[in-house]
Amino acid sequence: MDQTCDLLITNGTLVTMDRDCTLVENGALAVKDSRIESLGPSEAFSNVKTRRQIDACGGIVIPGLINLHTHAAMTLFRGLADDLDLMSWLQKHIFPAEADHDPDLVRLGAELACAEMILSGTTCFCDMYLFEESVARAAKSAGMRAVVGEVLYDFPSPNYGPLKNGFRYVSQMLEKWGDDPLVNVAIEPHSTYLCSPDLLLEAADMAWSNNVPLVLHLAETDSEVQQVIQSYGCRPVEHLQSLGLLKSNLVACHAVKVNQDEIMMLAEGRVKVAHNAESNMKLASGVAPVPEMVSAGVCVGLGTDGCCSNNDLDLFREMDSVAKLHKVFKGDPTVLPALRVLQMATIDAARSLGLEQRVGSLAVGKQADIVVLDASKAHSVPTFDPVSHLVYNADGSDVLHVVIDGMVVCENRQLQTIDLNEIVGRVREIAKDFRPFANNGSNRL
Ligand SMILES: [Zn+2]
Repeated sequence: MDQTCDLLITNGTLVTMDRDCTLVENGALAVKDSRIESLGPSEAFSNVKTRRQIDACGGIVIPGLINLHTHAAMTLFRGLADDLDLMSWLQKHIFPAEADHDPDLVRLGAELACAEMILSGTTCFCDMYLFEESVARAAKSAGMRAVVGEVLYDFPSPNYGPLKNGFRYVSQMLEKWGDDPLVNVAIEPHSTYLCSPDLLLEAADMAWSNNVPLVLHLAETDSEVQQVIQSYGCRPVEHLQSLGLLKSNLVACHAVKVNQDEIMMLAEGRVKVAHNAESNMKLASGVAPVPEMVSAGVCVGLGTDGCCSNNDLDLFREMDSVAKLHKVFKGDPTVLPALRVLQMATIDAARSLGLEQRVGSLAVGKQADIVVLDASKAHSVPTFDPVSHLVYNADGSDVLHVVIDGMVVCENRQLQTIDLNEIVGRVREIAKDFRPFANNGSNRL
């Protein structure tokens, strides 16, 4: 091979997550014009000229992880109120703390989230929150790939006021970010219990006609199911089916309380599911029937949810939790093997967002979203199976280098696009204002 590239990554084990789940030991990967130009055994790249080189030093090279459901700016509330039931947590702590939010606060929280995600190997996230224009700008300036969606619900929003302005706000975002290589827009009504059928139908129309994902919370808790049955006489998934919303662009976040009939409805509609195991565990919502969904052919990706119900955005920790949760719940250690879980955090999450042609695996022609992990730490050696290592052993702090869309955004754990010290200082200062909403002490032993 005799060519010139923009970036050459050498001397790593490539875990490609391509269709054949190809592994390349002592592999190399060349990037040109933001795309993967070629990859293969290192010796084939000895004559390649490059503007920049990263030596993976025997580490593991993977496609960037994709966080399919989060509320990035909630980093500001990390640990604000723990060990509470969902309604007390929301109504006594989170909603009051959010009441004075503005675009600048959301931008700061999203910048912190981008820093945390990049440093833990996540290169793309799907977000739902208020003031999403701020999240879009934070992602863009961090060089992160993002799918952003302003949350829509029946009551007035602190951002746009009445709902009709909400749809206008989303339209403007679609127009503004439509051609952006990094930031895309999704339509994100909150849930079946906070959105009227009219709202859901208008949101679905908008998503379908713009060819973008429709993202909402679905069947997260028993109380939600009861509420929807009371209002509409059917369960949440049935409700969406009756509205004609179970389509391939729908991303259903949680899907904890779904029965076998509903799983078949999701599969038939080719609906995608964002599984948020740690958030479901922390809020004791329940265990989503992920093995059953996967068996039925439902595409399931992983999300962290907002980091105050988690309390971090590290998808390596999430993968570990997912693999173990379903094993213990089923009493079967063969359930959800490591490769399946890694697929959920990469290619299946990409497919859920309609991005599978662009990202989610290391393959020639795809955008260069690449993470290099150190595999030489005390907790890392020996490594017999890199896939098992990534799910059961690695954590975000093993991430050394991160490339997004061909740009090196983190080198040797140093963020290249974000001034982390400045953000940490500002967050610590702002956090003082949220202290009155904390439950510290009230639930201590
Ligand atoms: Zn959520």
